[in-house]
Amino acid sequence: MMRKPVVAVVGRPNVGKSTFFNKVAGKRISIVEDTPGVTRDRIYVDAEWLNYKFTMIDTGGIEPDSKDVILSQMREQAQIAIDTADVILFMIDGKSAYTTGDEEIALMLQRAGKPVILTVNKVDNALPNEFYYDYYNLGLGEPFLISAINVLGIGDLLDEIVQYFPKPSATEEEDETIHVAVIGKPNAGKSSLINSILGEQRVIVSEIAGTTRDAIDTPFQYNKDDYVFIDTAGIRRKSRVNESIEKYSILRALTAIERSDVCLLVLDASEGVTEQDKKIAGYAHEAGKGVIIVVNKWDLIEKDNYTFNQFEKLVRNELAYLQYAPILFVSAVTKQRLFKLLDTIKHVSTECAKRISTGLLNDVLNEAVMLTQPPSDKGKRLKIYYMTQASVKPPTFILFVNDQELAHFSYVRYIENFLRKNFDFVGTPIRFIVREKK
Ligand code: GDP
Ligand code: GDP
Repeated sequence: MMRKPVVAVVGRPNVGKSTFFNKVAGKRISIVEDTPGVTRDRIYVDAEWLNYKFTMIDTGGIEPDSKDVILSQMREQAQIAIDTADVILFMIDGKSAYTTGDEEIALMLQRAGKPVILTVNKVDNALPNEFYYDYYNLGLGEPFLISAINVLGIGDLLDEIVQYFPKPSATEEEDETIHVAVIGKPNAGKSSLINSILGEQRVIVSEIAGTTRDAIDTPFQYNKDDYVFIDTAGIRRKSRVNESIEKYSILRALTAIERSDVCLLVLDASEGVTEQDKKIAGYAHEAGKGVIIVVNKWDLIEKDNYTFNQFEKLVRNELAYLQYAPILFVSAVTKQRLFKLLDTIKHVSTECAKRISTGLLNDVLNEAVMLTQPPSDKGKRLKIYYMTQASVKPPTFILFVNDQELAHFSYVRYIENFLRKNFDFVGTPIRFIVREKK
């Protein structure tokens, strides 16, 4: 499985990032988009160009409240991009000369040691404008002139972007390392959890390589398997812009999720499930990653015979779309159940990559159809001819049917539950693609 590269778009408000974004936006499978209860805001899109699939993140999805915070927000955006992106797209406004703020950001990006593409938007004919030669002074090489509105120059720009991605064929070989993103709101105990696990004698922490990206990645071994913790907390710095801390921590979580196989959604037991938890959980679900719900600080909770069940019920209610995710009650402080957590990570990563043979799948499908008849509408009944597993991570199934319109969400959900009853798929989302077969 190739990990999807991340492209971060950095730029002042109003340079046209969202407009550009919407032109490039791909579409996720509709059943995923329809997930009830997933909180959504469009700060990222899945995009595809030539044979490359990538995720593009709008680091500027934050409305500045006053002029003087714009620059500090841009520094923050640039830092996120530097920490997490494979390619950085720095967008400026071609309608006027670049600003001193642009200069400062350009300097920051120059030093990052990552591919940076200078993009000048609002050049509505995509031809060199009066400022053209000045752009070279930003020290970021050749400027790409585009018009997001007229969709001009975007193809050349995308060509340039994908050049920096690993070649699809070169990365075909399996990387067995399990990438674990530790996500959750600030103070949930993410760093403590990672430190407690790495401090155990049965866990062997490897050397950390010196690149920027690896600074937030910690490789380790457990039971002879290779893992990498992707820490979203360790790189958190004090933000000058208090109101946007939440947004930035979500952005960081987002890039970590994209690079992971399994996400640990860390909740603070003393706070229950918050809105921010729900948002982050929604991203992990939509990205199709394995998810484990880790209720941390369990040591703080006064318990009786009902506590476990009550808490589990609460989590299941609040995070209804994550029914498949195992819930573990742990404590980074007392180290309760940390090995259970490691074993669960291994188990879930196997489940995400599980393949079921077409023969076996159709035996189960036949049984499902026999027990609950497919729905009908205006005298026409849904027929499912057969199903096959198209891919893993997440397991994705194609249902071949007589009429797509008849394949209601609720019946597909029934099939999903039936599959889970037979084949588990613990901790992984499952996707369906419905195709008509004449
Ligand atoms: P963001 O704040 O960077 O996301 O910027 P927006 O995408 O919201 O765009 C800000 C304004 O610039 C909007 O009024 C857009 O219509 C306009 N805009 C965006 N792209 C272009 C373009 O290529 N040419 C022109 N003339 N205007 C543009
Ligand atoms: P992060 O922001 O998610 O990385 O959270 P930290 O690891 O920095 O932890 C935030 C606070 O919660 C710190 O004061 C920790 O000591 C405390 N904490 C973390 N895990 C636990 C736990 O399992 N039990 C208790 N009682 N406190 C914890």
